[in-house]
Amino acid sequence: MHNQHPQKLEAALYVVATPIGNLRDITLRALEVLAGADVVAAEDTRNTAHLLTHHGISAQRLIAVHQHNERGAADKLIALLQAGQSVAFVSDAGTPAVSDPGALLVQAVLAAGLRVVPIPGPSAAIAALSAAGLAAPHFLFYGFLPNKSAARRSVLQDLSSYPYTLVFYEAPHRIVECVDDLCAVLGGTRRIVLAREITKLFETIHSCALQDAAVWLQSDSNQQRGEFVVLVSGAEPQAEGLGAETERILALLLAELPLKQAVQLAVQITGANRNELYQRALAVKAED
Ligand code: SAM
Repeated sequence: MHNQHPQKLEAALYVVATPIGNLRDITLRALEVLAGADVVAAEDTRNTAHLLTHHGISAQRLIAVHQHNERGAADKLIALLQAGQSVAFVSDAGTPAVSDPGALLVQAVLAAGLRVVPIPGPSAAIAALSAAGLAAPHFLFYGFLPNKSAARRSVLQDLSSYPYTLVFYEAPHRIVECVDDLCAVLGGTRRIVLAREITKLFETIHSCALQDAAVWLQSDSNQQRGEFVVLVSGAEPQAEGLGAETERILALLLAELPLKQAVQLAVQITGANRNELYQRALAVKAED
């Protein structure tokens, strides 16, 4: 039960992260802001009313801001902020503006010269990453892929060479076809982690080779239900090779000099690795 006599908040737009399943995953500061704000702007007022009443906070100051009225609602909220009111903004679940409404509102509030305060907390992508066991230091958060397979494959093609863990959101009715496309474009040997229903009753975090994921999903239709974060390990770094300019210099020297001398000079001119240049020189000679 939250304190029913909240402190008055400074006028600002507070962008508040809310739970992604378990209603207890909310910070003390988020509760204070939700209790103390003059207005709580929510993507889905019914859903947010449920969260607020669960924590003993009055749900009377709720107004709706969703994808379809975000610009119009921004004007209304800016007027409230200019009148000195505090506004808490929440999306349906997790962090606003992460594959959710919020970015346009924040942009408009900043453009009006008003203050925006982040109140950090859960996000499905970060929760999934934290428990995925993919050790790469970098990740690329993509969010939702296109709905249609051709467009999805084209995006995946663009992402295929990045050596970063790829993080996607996917709907349950598309999870199997999405996994098929991931496997077709990225190859079967990368690791995939399917993080389903995080923080909820049927939370499942399954890791396997991409080529085995579709069979795993189809072996139990329960595994296709609920909400998913899909993580895929990044591309293996490619051997760099010598580079075009080093190749050119080596070829010129090899045309004029014995192999050892050519390699010696090429090392001095280019600074490339002696052994790599030597191996390449042998290959060039063999090709001649
Ligand atoms: N703003 C949210 C965040 O910070 O995570 C994301 C909102 S987006 C509209 C909803 C998508 O997030 C779902 O379709 C699913 O891919 C992912 N998601 C949200 N909650 C989840 C959960 N509990 N488990 C797994 N994925 C979840």
